[in-house]
Amino acid sequence: PTLPYDDSNIFAKILRREIPCNAVYEDEHALAFHDIAPQAPVHILVIPKKAYVSWDDFSANGSAEEIAGFVRAVGHVAREQGLVVRGYRLLANVGRNGGQEVPHLHVHLFGGGPLGPMLT
Ligand code: 5GP
Repeated sequence: PTLPYDDSNIFAKILRREIPCNAVYEDEHALAFHDIAPQAPVHILVIPKKAYVSWDDFSANGSAEEIAGFVRAVGHVAREQGLVVRGYRLLANVGRNGGQEVPHLHVHLFGGGPLGPMLT
C-alpha cells in the first residue's frame, strides 16, 4: 500500500462499533451503510471488513475469496436497495489526488434517480 493503514480512521471505528452507522447490509466480507453526507438520492458506502487502505491495496493484496466476497456484496446491496432498474454508479477514490479522504477502502454506491456526469 502507498499509505500505511491507520487504525484510528473513521471506518475502522465504525467496524469496531465505536461509532454508529446506518447499516443496510453486513456479511463476513463487507459492511454497507448510508453515507453521512449523501450526494445522490441513495448514497451508500460499502467497505471490506479487513484493513485495506484503498482499492489499490485491496486489488493487490486481498485474497481471491475476499475480493470475490466484497464484489458480490456490492452487487447484492445494489439489488437489495432496488437500484438496478433505474441504474446506479460505483466509485472508489484512491489517494489524496483521487479524492480519497478516509484511508479504509470504500466503494460509493450512488443511485435512486438520475445522476449527474460526476459525483464526489
Ligand atoms: P472519500 O472522499 O474518502 O471517497 O469518501 C468518504 C466518504 O465518507 C464521504 O462521502 C463522507 O461523506 C463519508 N463519511 C465521512 N465520515 C463519515 C461518517 O462518520 N459516517 C458515514 N456514514 N459516512 C462518513
